[in-house]
Amino acid sequence: MQSDLVIAIDGPAGAGKSTVAKKVADRLGIIYIDTGAMYRALTLEALRREINLNNEEKLSNLAQQIEIEFEKIDGEDKVLLNGEDVSQEIRSQKVSNYVSLVAKVSTVRKKLVNLQQRMARSKSVIMDGRDIGTVVLPNADLKIFLTASVQERTRRRYNELQTKGKVVEFDELKEEILRRDKLDKEREVAPLKKAKDAIELDSTDLTIEEVIDRIIKLCQEEL
Ligand code: C5P
Repeated sequence: MQSDLVIAIDGPAGAGKSTVAKKVADRLGIIYIDTGAMYRALTLEALRREINLNNEEKLSNLAQQIEIEFEKIDGEDKVLLNGEDVSQEIRSQKVSNYVSLVAKVSTVRKKLVNLQQRMARSKSVIMDGRDIGTVVLPNADLKIFLTASVQERTRRRYNELQTKGKVVEFDELKEEILRRDKLDKEREVAPLKKAKDAIELDSTDLTIEEVIDRIIKLCQEEL
């Protein structure tokens, strides 16, 4: 019997998954696991080592070597790559541009999925990504497929980057999001798709708070 609460959130890039998941975790007092950050950390290390991202064997070896951990430091969720805080660096445009190439390698996914499943074992968690409801946590108590129009997803990312003082072209950002979605949807292993038993939530016209309230309500109904 499962006494822990397990929530899976999947969806395309920029739908607000991580913002929402983090806040739901805080409200429910459960652990948040950002699986995209893990693929990003691996991509960052591959770029640093100047590994050819089409070389699956090298990427696979790298995945076996590196250590990725999550830690709360001064109340903030940090991503540690071999002990180094890379929380900011993994969000760079360069990592965003290449991460889907790394994420399509089956041996890379095997390693990270295993790690994700271990992180969630015997705990109450909310995990977000692309294959959480379909592959990583198929028995989750609640599965959400969070979407929004591509225009709205680009607008949110654009505003987020602007508040951080980063200059980007709106159209370039939109292209990156569309390209990443296409690669994530069309890859052979664990493509981005809605699990059969997931509830689809279109957040285009909803505020973050409204999305969070709906998920909390769904949790209460589910349990
Ligand atoms: O969630 P985020 O946008 O940070 O994810 C970055 C990339 O990592 C995605 O575009 C996708 O290629 C990959 N990813 C994945 N499976 C997951 C989470 C992320 O393939 N569970």
